[in-house]
Formats: sequence, C-alpha cells, structure tokens
Amino acid sequence: MHDVPMTLYNSLGRALQRFAPIDPANVRIYSCGPTVYNYAHIGNLRAYVFTDTLSRVLTWKGWPLTHIINITDVGHLTSDADAGDDKMEAAARASGRDIWAIAAHYTQAFKQDLGDLNIRAPSRFPLATDHVEGMIDFAKSIEGHCYRIDDGLYFDTTSVPGYGGLAGRRDDAREGRIDAVAGKRHPEDFAIWRTSPPGGNRQMEWDSPWGRGAPGWHLECSVMSRQYLGDRFDIHTGGVDHREIHHPNEIAQNQARQGCAGADYTGANIWMHNNFLVERSGKMSKSSGAFTTLRTLVDRGFHPLAYRLMCLQAHYRSEIEFSWEGLAAAQTRLKRLVQGVEALRARPAAATTAPVAPYIQRLDAAVSDDLNTPRALLALDELLADKRVAPADRIAALVDFDAVLGLDLVTATRADLRVRPASAAIDEDGIAERLSARRDVRAAKDFAASDAIRDALAAAGVEVMDGDPLGWDWRIDA
Ligand code: AMP
Ligand code: ZN
Repeated sequence: MHDVPMTLYNSLGRALQRFAPIDPANVRIYSCGPTVYNYAHIGNLRAYVFTDTLSRVLTWKGWPLTHIINITDVGHLTSDADAGDDKMEAAARASGRDIWAIAAHYTQAFKQDLGDLNIRAPSRFPLATDHVEGMIDFAKSIEGHCYRIDDGLYFDTTSVPGYGGLAGRRDDAREGRIDAVAGKRHPEDFAIWRTSPPGGNRQMEWDSPWGRGAPGWHLECSVMSRQYLGDRFDIHTGGVDHREIHHPNEIAQNQARQGCAGADYTGANIWMHNNFLVERSGKMSKSSGAFTTLRTLVDRGFHPLAYRLMCLQAHYRSEIEFSWEGLAAAQTRLKRLVQGVEALRARPAAATTAPVAPYIQRLDAAVSDDLNTPRALLALDELLADKRVAPADRIAALVDFDAVLGLDLVTATRADLRVRPASAAIDEDGIAERLSARRDVRAAKDFAASDAIRDALAAAGVEVMDGDPLGWDWRIDA
C-alpha cells in the first residue's frame, strides 16, 4: 500500500541509495545507545527521535523489524579516541555511589524519556556489561590485528583495508585524537581491552587473557549487533559524532572478524547519522554538568511532544539550533494541530467529495525520501485544512500520520498539552475554580472583581487569555 520506493542517505559513500532489505520479513537495525553515567540531554534524545522515525516509517511501509538500542554501561572514555577516564567510573567516584546503581538509575531515566517522547521501545536494550564474555571471545578472534601495550590490547588500524572510509576528511579525524596512550603505533589505533593499572580502583572489571580490566568501548557494538542481528544487517545509526571515530572502529573490528573480507564489508549495509542539536549558549554536553534535559523542558511548561515536533520540523541531517522561542513555536504548532482535530470532530459530516488518498500518498512520498518529516508535516497541515475532504476522512487519515510521526493526534486533547511548570504556585483545579468564579462575576458585570481574580492568577504565574485565537483560556508563564 505505502509503496513509494524508499531512499536513505548512506554516510558510507555520502549518497542517497534505494533501500532494499536483506530479508524483507525481518529488517535489522542497530542504534548506538546512551552512555548511562548521567541523564540524557535533549541532543541525545534527538538521536532517538530520529531512530524512532526510521523504525516507524519502515514498519508503516510494511517491513517487520528487529531494532536494537544498546546501553553503554562500561568502557566509554571521556574522549571517544581512547583518552581519559571511563565515564561510568568517573561518575561513580565523583558521587561516591555504586556504579551499578548509577547505571540502573540512568538507564531507567532514559527509558522514561523515550516513553514521554512517544519513542517506541526497540526489540531489545542489551547492556554492554552483559556481553563481556562475548567481547572477550570476539577480541580473541581478531587478536592477529592487535598488539599489546601496557594499557592493554590495541587494534592496529592499518591491518584492515580502507580504515576510516566512513569518516570525514582523514585530517579532521586525526586532529581529535590526542595520542595520550604510550606505545600506540598509529594515532587512530584504539583499545580493544584496557588492562587495569596496578593498584587501580575500577568498580567494574573482568578477567581476560590480557589481564584484569575492561573492554574498549567500540567492541560492545560489534559484539551486540552481531549477536542480535547477524554478521550483516540493514542499518546502523548514531549521532554524526559517531561517524568519525566510533563507527569507523566498529567497521574495522567487523572487517577483522570477517577475515578482512574487503573494504566493502562493514557489518551494516547503510550507516545513518543524525545531525546535532546545538545550543548557542553553550555546549550540549553531558560531561559539562550543566545541560538541558527533557525534565528541564517539562519544568518550564513544555510538553515532551512539543520537543518531538521541534525535532521533526527539521530534516534529521540538518543541525537544529535549540532555542526556547523555537520550542514555544513548536508547542503552539502542536496545540493548533490538536485544536484542528478537535474542531473536525465537533463538525457534523459535510457533503464533500475530494478523496483523502492523495494526502497519504504525499506522506509516503515525503518519508520515503530519506525521512523527510518537514514535508510530511506540511502535508498534515494541508490535510487538516482541506475543506473539500470530509472531516471523518481527514480524521481517519490521522492514523497514518500518527503511525509515522508519533504525535498522538488521534487521541491528544488540549488538556493533555497543558504542562504545569515546576515554578507554578497553583494547580489545575485551583485555576479552574478561579476561572469559573471569574466567569460568574463577569456575567454579573462586576469587572473590578474579575480583574482582581485575573491579577491573583497572574501573581501565581497564570496568564488569563481572554479571546485567545487558539481557544486557550489560560497559560502558565514559565
Ligand atoms: P552518548 O550518551 O554520549 O553515548 O550519546 C547517545 C547518542 O546521542 C549518540 O548517538 C550520539 O551520537 C548522540 N548525540 C550526542 N550529542 C548529540 C547532540 N547534541 N545532538 C544530537 N545527537 C547527539
Ligand atoms: Zn555504538
């Protein structure tokens, strides 16, 4: 039915390509998951709005999926290029808490964020620490590509053909790699296993043929993707930062595992990367400590789906500059959509003739064109406004738009979108009570009393919106 041919942008080769699944009965996708030493920032969450869009579109177009999002609970160092401390260990030391408890807490928080953003759960969320044995076996099988130094077992990136082909200009990739590890043969070489220094105080460590220690970060994704999806699968995703180091290293490991099956063997057929969400005011960085989370947005009165819509308004390969004004505009757009649907529901069936199918066709054409969600949203706006199409047909078509965009337009109500900021000094019942009292005094033409109620609400952080074109009778000032 939704049979527009699908093209996706493959970072490997930097070109759009026709999507042809390896097995149409089971499309296999692997998405690099979060490092759970802290809450996800909203930039991280953009990566999963993107993977959710990908998986929703493929499912809607009729392909059953196996989708894996791993949880990185060991091994990711403060620099992607094997310099610095393990992020998890550093967080545990800084907080004095048990590392396993930290991992469990932030994993749970991540899943909660995904749920709030209407991101569907993948088939599995495997944990890196549950796969250490598999990582050791994998490492043994590629030992011929590795060498030993004091720090552990390192991968020789010159031992596979075309190393780093996925990354941007080779010089760029080199620049980021501070050669902090003594004995590394080439700046791009990376840790497969990091041996704990004598007297070290890691909370997470395992025995291995290369001493007691912990796996290198890149290894987990080669091992888990292979275990759950096989040697060759359809799509591998991550943020655009992963295109430069993490994914080239995964590819090198995969090539080595396959006996150097050539530069064309990478594990996944298509490597896709979302661009960044950036903040003008500072770095969107978990390690910086001060960063914006989904909770920050909600505390300021924004609905998580407004953030989802903000992401969908941009193509996933475009950078988004985060601003509160931009988020407010997305929230207003979402309210308009919800209000538009409510108006359609209230309208009696009109005698109209135009078919709704062209809108579904436009949705299909947009998302099949490398997930062009901005164009899909335009089709949605026009569908809701098209008076030639019967209201019931317009509402029915929303099932398709919801399936792909995940905005819950079929069920959302205006009340659902009201989010009380953490700073508000009054709850919804209190607001409703005062607004009702205000209507009474206005009916009695006691405008002084009406103004007094309005001022009292304003003092509690609630703006009364008489005659608001969106039909909102109040708004909480963040
Ligand atoms: P991490 O928790 O750092 O391992 O990152 C989780 C995911 O978020 C990875 O796919 C990253 O590439 C992605 N990511 C990190 N920062 C941003 C950002 N500012 N905007 C979009 N994606 C990001
Ligand atoms: Zn990964």
